[in-house]
Amino acid sequence: MTKGPKALQKEITEGIQKQRDFFQSGKTRSYEFRKTQLKKMQTAIEAFDGKIKEALYKDLRKSETEAHLVETGFVLNEVKDTIKNLAGWMKPRRVKTTLFHDVGSSAIIPEPYGNVLIISPWNYPFQLLIAPALGAMAAGNTIVLKPSELAPHTSKVIKDMISKYFSPEYITVVEGGIPETSALLNEKFDYIFYTGSTHVGRIIYQAAAKHLTPVTLELGGKSPCIVDENTNLKLTAKRIAWGKLINAGQTCVAPDYILIQKNIKEEFINLVKKYWIEFYGNKPEDSEDYCRIISERHFDRLVNLMETSGTIVHGGEIAKEDLYISPTLLDEVSPDDSVMQEEIFGPILPVLAFDKTEEAIQFVNNRPKPLALYVFSESNGFVNQVLENTSSGGVTVNDTIMHIANPHLPFGGVGESGIGAYHHQASFDTFSHLKSVLKKGFRVELPYRYAPFAKNSATLKFLAKWLN
Ligand code: NAD
Repeated sequence: MTKGPKALQKEITEGIQKQRDFFQSGKTRSYEFRKTQLKKMQTAIEAFDGKIKEALYKDLRKSETEAHLVETGFVLNEVKDTIKNLAGWMKPRRVKTTLFHDVGSSAIIPEPYGNVLIISPWNYPFQLLIAPALGAMAAGNTIVLKPSELAPHTSKVIKDMISKYFSPEYITVVEGGIPETSALLNEKFDYIFYTGSTHVGRIIYQAAAKHLTPVTLELGGKSPCIVDENTNLKLTAKRIAWGKLINAGQTCVAPDYILIQKNIKEEFINLVKKYWIEFYGNKPEDSEDYCRIISERHFDRLVNLMETSGTIVHGGEIAKEDLYISPTLLDEVSPDDSVMQEEIFGPILPVLAFDKTEEAIQFVNNRPKPLALYVFSESNGFVNQVLENTSSGGVTVNDTIMHIANPHLPFGGVGESGIGAYHHQASFDTFSHLKSVLKKGFRVELPYRYAPFAKNSATLKFLAKWLN
């Protein structure tokens, strides 16, 4: 039996109060506690690895190898990296003290925010919940995890794993959809980390604003690929063909559409077709490595985009009962077509042509800032022109997706594609308040700052100007 709204809210309020009390006890703050819990998370993921992969297959038909690369393996690398670097990240970061403050020392001290909420989507349902959780654990917070209801098997396995290894006053999982998330958002958290659509991102931001809660919003958008004629076209097509079809295109940083110089468009289209056949065969529906669309709603949305935009030059096959859409290339696409009005988030790739570089740049700049941008060229001049004249969350030059796989590059959006960034130390910093601390002693005392100012005015002005 589902709970009524009042019972649900009561349960959530009580759970959060327990987490607050636990945080106030100070137990989560020590290095030892954080390290022990992170190691426990590593053990938990290793023990549940098979079950997690099984669940990912049921939710998305994600193959074992892909699940390892982009979900459990990815998170295991991140947890090991976090354990290795934790002591260094926790240290106060010394900065200079100006002479104006006479004798003293200054440091930026990372401290936990307190009780944090992490909400994740369905497309990488394990990675996108647990990777941010590692940052929150490393930073010494208590955590409420809200997985996506659209990947129910993975949501359930995460709940089982977390409740087996962690006490609920430290980390707890609240499963469910809009009613559960809304009940959580009625509560005051010290930080909210949300991954999902820009539309829901606005709802989360508004709810956070009520309590002045700081947020990270990891959102989506249309990530373009700009392809110059002066490129290695075979590898360009191969790397785009690969990046587009991971998770059947349901990846926030998947290449959304292609802007390519007119004279190489035909050859590019033929190459992408060739590589897709090489990767998934002539019948991708039989490939072990080709994922399915998450739900009927998304399936219908994608079919509609396909049927109302440009011309299908490859693919276009569908099977609703299996939520299958074959890898599909669209040519003759107009900027006004429906496929260019929203993030595609599926295995459909529109190709648009341009003559001059400025046209491609203008095209990107006339739209919301993307989460990722890809530029393919062997000319540094072309690459720099694109880099200097566009804004996006991140960029990979001459490849797709890969900037998110380098842990040393913070990952996040800009403008409508998001606020904030994470991975590696950026995750730790995201979930820490970086507190500025100036320490002084009593041995030195400059008398000039005290009123009456008239007699010390010249000295004060001199100090303010020169001793900063
Ligand atoms: P979504 O916004 O529909 O759902 C995400 C989460 O929000 C879920 O946990 C869901 O329960 C909750 N939610 C949904 N509607 C809600 C509402 N009205 N009120 C409160 N909570 C609500 O997103 P999705 O469809 O699950 O994910 C796809 C989107 O996420 C795409 O736009 C994609 O680009 C983006 N995305 C971004 C990243 C990133 O790292 N930047 C990663 C993956 C996906």
